[in-house]
Amino acid sequence: MANENKLQNIISHCKEYGFIFPSSEIYDGLSAVYDYGQYGAELKRNIRDYWWRSMTQMNDNIVGIDAAIFMHPTVWKASGHVDNFSDPMIDNKDSQKRYRVDHLIEGYAETLPEAEATAVLAEMDHLLAANDFSGLKQFVEDKKIKCGVSGTSNWTDVRQFNLMFSTEVGSVAEDASTIYLRPETAQGIFVNFLNVQKTARMKIPFGIAQTGKAFRNEIVARQFIFRMREFEQMEMQFFIKPGTQKEWYEYWKEARMKWHLGLGISADKYRFHDHVKLAHYADAACDIEYDFTFGFKELEGIHSRTDFDLKQHQEYSGKKLTYFDTEINQHYVPYVIETSIGLDRTVLMILSEAYEEEDLSTADKQDSRSLLRIPAMLAPIKLAIFPLTKKDGLPEMAKQLIEECKPYFKCFYEEKDAIGKRYRRQDAIGTPFCVTIDHQTKEDNTVTIRHRDSMLQERMPLSEIRQYIQEQTKMF
Ligand code: ATP
Repeated sequence: MANENKLQNIISHCKEYGFIFPSSEIYDGLSAVYDYGQYGAELKRNIRDYWWRSMTQMNDNIVGIDAAIFMHPTVWKASGHVDNFSDPMIDNKDSQKRYRVDHLIEGYAETLPEAEATAVLAEMDHLLAANDFSGLKQFVEDKKIKCGVSGTSNWTDVRQFNLMFSTEVGSVAEDASTIYLRPETAQGIFVNFLNVQKTARMKIPFGIAQTGKAFRNEIVARQFIFRMREFEQMEMQFFIKPGTQKEWYEYWKEARMKWHLGLGISADKYRFHDHVKLAHYADAACDIEYDFTFGFKELEGIHSRTDFDLKQHQEYSGKKLTYFDTEINQHYVPYVIETSIGLDRTVLMILSEAYEEEDLSTADKQDSRSLLRIPAMLAPIKLAIFPLTKKDGLPEMAKQLIEECKPYFKCFYEEKDAIGKRYRRQDAIGTPFCVTIDHQTKEDNTVTIRHRDSMLQERMPLSEIRQYIQEQTKMF
């Protein structure tokens, strides 16, 4: 219950402080679609930058691209998405409510004691892996799993439901053809594999990274920005020599976990989950799960995709997609290890870690503050600058400091309200540092710098502020 409240509190906080709004809110919103506000957009961009730079700047052998959302429709035929990108669904005949059958069973398992829940989930995994839809329906009926709305167990058969959104290109009806909104960014990398390899003169092993929007017609959209119909992915495909996939899979599992721990989140909040049911393209796959307020759930997938995608595109396009390996004098279709992380889920993770209602009450005074302990390098605003009063030349000095700092990092200026109130507003949006210009500044050129997490205040020479903040908020 406490955790459920925590998610509700995070959602309210995000709305109140300009991080995340429901889409088209004045029309009562659009289910499972969200808009990022002024601070959410900065936070999201900083996380995206951190991932992008970790991949393309910190690795000599990874380059980044930005492929279009629309792709030739045959891409999705070749990739298997037209035929296979579907989830097993079941409808309750009384409420007409549709469920993903695995979510329905997982929800039921959550109500059971641990040992029983484990057995239920193992049986479900087994049935899913075997694509045994009548077995799944039987299982739901045998366990007398009920619909949350109607309270009955009156279920339809289990059916597959394709998750891709389609639309049409071409203005004249006869010329129009169906195209899809991409359900993953990965295929934009595969179809550009040779373009990039040749123009960047990349030698295997090498990676291509990309961030961008993906779209899925999720049936059960829930848990805020965890599961959306329009979301953003950060994906990297690492092209390797066939036969080396096991070692590179282990390499990327370790490298990605290191990245996560580098966010300052403790190791016990993460775990690996190996896939029992492998996707049609994979020979090994696991998720990095994070302990969200609603339990451990997938944050990132690491997949050993074999040569499936390139081979499929080779077959459907009729174009060769092989690499000439000068070390062994051989042409081959490379194998691929994929790392695929949801940007929005990472935003939710950072917010879940950062959000705190801190009790500051003393014996004679009740007090508390809402704060976001966002890692300084990811904070939307790095430095807030306040003149203590609106007169005596203090605003001018504060604005001069802003001018000096703003080419380097995002600053915020405010002169209204008592200083304590201004600090609290910055705590709520996660600003790690505030600087106050006061009368002493005019005498000795020092300022008060106040730290968000500890609320400690210290004096520092005005001339050192820019460098200090840059040092404290740097990514690498
Ligand atoms: P799930 O099992 O939760 O539906 P998935 O296994 O289908 O996820 P992948 O296809 O591996 O997800 O996509 C890679 C990453 O993209 C996921 O780890 C997740 O972080 C993100 N992602 C996938 N679907 C969504 C969604 N609907 N909303 C937000 N992020 C998503």
